[in-house]
Amino acid sequence: MLLNNQIPQTFESLKKSKFRSRFKLTEKDRQYIRDKGIDTIRQHAIDFISARIAPQFPKNDGKQTPMRGHPVFIAQHATATCCRGCIQKWHGIKKGKELSGQEIQFLVELIMRWIEG
Ligand SMILES: [Zn+2]
Repeated sequence: MLLNNQIPQTFESLKKSKFRSRFKLTEKDRQYIRDKGIDTIRQHAIDFISARIAPQFPKNDGKQTPMRGHPVFIAQHATATCCRGCIQKWHGIKKGKELSGQEIQFLVELIMRWIEG
């Protein structure tokens, strides 16, 4: 898994970003995670990435991820997986093409490690 090998380094870079490290889960988000269970949250992450990020040209790209309302949204801003521009800049995955299964898995992994950490 080539992409997953870059996860520790990616987290180091994200920590150095003032903007990215500003994002925190609220108590309501934490309660939501406890209520739903981590497997359900992972499924939500897969669903959000697949529907809102993975298409060749995602709808409202750059503005498709709200700043609050779901722990996965917060995690997406914190890990720069919120839109294709941020993903291209931070993770080197080009815009204008549909994401592969492996790329989706990588982005979900980043989101889940951030939430669990
Ligand atoms: Zn973005």
